[in-house]
This record gives sequence, structure tokens and C-alpha cells, in this order.
Amino acid sequence: MTFASPHSNSGAPQRSPVVVIGAGPAGLTIGNILRAADVDCVVLESETRAFIEQRPRAGVLEEWAVRGLERRGLAVNLLERAQRHTECEFRFGGQRYRLEYGELTGHHHWIYPQQLLVTDLVREYADVRGGDIRFGVRDVQLHDLDSDQPSVSYTDPDTSERVLIHCDFVAGCDGARGATRAVLTPDRARVSRYDYGIGWLALLAEAPPSNDCVVFGMHPNGFAGHMARSPEVTRYYLECPPGDDPDNWPQDRVWSELQLRLGASGAPPLTEGRLIEKRVLDMHSYVVEPMVIGRLFLAGDAAHLTAPIAAKGMNLALHDAYLLGDALIAHLTKGDSTGLTGYSAACLGRVWDYQEFSQWLSDIYHGTSSGDPYRAGTTLARLRRLFASPSAASTFAEQYLGSGY
Ligand code: FAD
Repeated sequence: MTFASPHSNSGAPQRSPVVVIGAGPAGLTIGNILRAADVDCVVLESETRAFIEQRPRAGVLEEWAVRGLERRGLAVNLLERAQRHTECEFRFGGQRYRLEYGELTGHHHWIYPQQLLVTDLVREYADVRGGDIRFGVRDVQLHDLDSDQPSVSYTDPDTSERVLIHCDFVAGCDGARGATRAVLTPDRARVSRYDYGIGWLALLAEAPPSNDCVVFGMHPNGFAGHMARSPEVTRYYLECPPGDDPDNWPQDRVWSELQLRLGASGAPPLTEGRLIEKRVLDMHSYVVEPMVIGRLFLAGDAAHLTAPIAAKGMNLALHDAYLLGDALIAHLTKGDSTGLTGYSAACLGRVWDYQEFSQWLSDIYHGTSSGDPYRAGTTLARLRRLFASPSAASTFAEQYLGSGY
């Protein structure tokens, strides 16, 4: 099946074994894995290098994910600069409850802003391993995915000409709104979607963290979250109506609501600062099955979006990237297709597990503010159980860390 025809004004076609669409954590990790094995690839990115190196998003990395980067020589800066977190704090009913998940499991999280990881991965891929990356590309299209000679075309931002690259495989790592969405027709893939019906005002504040660990505040006004990003910058979240306008949240309103929802006996007030990011996220998730369409292999948010409730998305993107990078090398250098054949199933187990945990955690975060006294009652019962039952705490810790594999 041909999804689109290459543009008629293409120059001479190019060739590369793999074309990676998207230079986020997934695409750049795959590119680095391929280059380390001397397999050529071309990474196509619609934004500029400066833009992706400054785009703030995630920050919480699971220990296994960092070990995977380290094994591939991609964690030198991270291990020097990231903070280790072993505890989180829940605040509800005006009290603070500490969950020492590091002690329960022997595992921890790493806190490292996504834009620093992307900066490290671009530098390693392009400047150290000599990888081909093309920024600012426009109108990426995929062709002949069902043949053994697929291709990708795009408009060059400098010449405005169409460029056509023939390849063996396409890695679709272009996030939730990329070019690979066009390929996801119902006859090729099932997209299961879940809308939480909740908005989060995602904030970045030029203010040092106000606590030594992540804080989850469950308040009748709505959920609030506090997550360190660096000694100077802290991410905060405030539950809000879906589709809310960030302009409804001037600086004063943001800080008074954060102080209220995260306030608890014995907790010092939050250190306030200038808000440098303020946007509303409508919380939703989806999973694409299978993650393979002909010669297109999806990875990361292109294949599954996880609302940032449990900080799982970047971790899943890295998990896919490790599996896909290794599978491509096995096929292209040894003719072993086992990894590619099993790729989708090998990813989806963890994907669905993380989706389920995010949904469970969403019930905890949002139950007390649901306006439904019955739901609020069962939410508080769950919360109390976390701190009364060591086995409930251990189960939470394992899922929060993604360590049960
Ligand atoms: P992306 O990072 O989205 O990268 C895709 C790339 O493709 C981008 O560079 C994009 O510019 C490019 N692209 C898009 N369209 C095209 C096109 N047509 N052609 C070429 N290139 C294209 N996850 C966690 O694990 N922990 C957290 O703490 C966490 N916090 C988050 C907080 C927020 C506010 C948000 C929004 C997300 C958070 N996430 C978190 C999720 C995480 O950021 C994503 O899951 C992660 O970025 C996915 O990586 P990716 O490589 O799959 O996609």
C-alpha cells in the first residue's frame, strides 16, 4: 500500500538504511544506538536545534531508563548533574505523609530536565558520532511502507525543494502530532484513547524547590504538584477545568492556589518566583496497536501518549528506543529479525502497565476534588492505606519506579 506519492519536483533520491522522524528522546536515542554500531541513518526534525535544546517538558527518569542510557554511553552528563530522589510526599487533610520508596525497593528516580537530555543526545549523535540530522524540515511524508523499499520525503527549509530518501526502515518518533499520525488509519492500527476530563495548568517557576522531594497535594479545590527540576527551577501543576485559558491564572492566583493546595501542618510556605511557563494540558492518553505498520516502527509518544500524571512518557520513549535500536542493528548487521518481529509486543506490556498506573494515580489525585463525596471518601481510604499498609506502599513504590520488570 502506498500512503502518498513522492513530490514531483524531488531532486536526486538519497538512500539510508534507516530514516528516523523526530529528534526527541526516542528518535535521538535510536540514532545514537545505530551510529554506535556504524549503521547510517538520517534524523529529520521539524524544529531548530536551539528550539529542541530549550523545550522544557519532563524531568523524572526511572533508574532502569538511566542504566540503559549509561550502558550506551549516553549518560555521562546526566550522572554528573542529575539529582537522585528516593522519597515523595503526599499532602491531604492538612497533613504531610512521606513515602520512602527508595528504602522499600532499593531503587530511586533521577531528576534531569528533558531539554538537557535532548541537548546531550543531539551533541553525541551529531557532533561526536557524526550522525546526519536535518533540522527545520517541512511537510514530511511517508511512502510505500508496505514494500521492502519504503521512502520518506520532506521539503528542505533552505531550498524549498522536495528531498526523497529511500530506506529499509522508518522509525516514527515524531511525538503526538507528527507526520506518522496520517498513517494510522483504522484498517492499519487501533488507537485506544482515554480522556480524563481534567485539565492541568503546567507551570515552570524561576524558584528553587520548596521541598526535598516531589509533593502531591490532594485538596478539595483540586490537585497540585511540586517537582524539582534544578536548584533554580521548579515545575508545578494545578488541576483546572479542561480547556481552561492560562490567562485565567495570573501570577497572584497561581501562587495563592499553590500555597493553599500544597499547604500542610509543619510545611514551610512555598518559595515563590516568576512563572516562565504556563500552559493548560488536557489530560488524555492513547495507545496505538500494533506499533508497527509495514516498515514503519513507532516509538515514544508517536505510539502511546501517557498523560504526565505519573511521569512515565519519557521513560516509555526510552524503553521503545532501546528495543528498536537494538532490533534494527540485529537485523541490519546480522540478519536477525527476532527483535523487529517481537518489537510491538515487547513494548506494549510496559506501556499498558504504565497506562493503568497513571489511571489509578489519577483517581487518587483527583478524587477529593471531584465534587462526589463517595469518590472523595474512597480516595481518602486509598491514601490512608498507602501509609498504613507496608504491602500497599511497596506495590505503589514498584509501580512508581517502574522497577517490577
Ligand atoms: P517528543 O519529545 O515529542 O519528540 C518528538 C520530536 O518530533 C519533536 O522534537 C518534534 O519537534 C518532532 N516532530 C514532530 N512532528 C514532526 C514532523 N512532522 N516532522 C519531523 N519532526 C517532527 N515524561 C516522563 O517520563 N517524566 C516526566 O516527568 C514527564 N513530565 C512531563 C511534563 C509535561 C508538561 C509534558 C508535556 C510531558 C511530560 N512527560 C514526562 C512526557 C514526555 O515529555 C514525553 O513522553 C516525551 O517527550 C516523549 O518523547 P518522544 O521522543 O517520543 O517525543
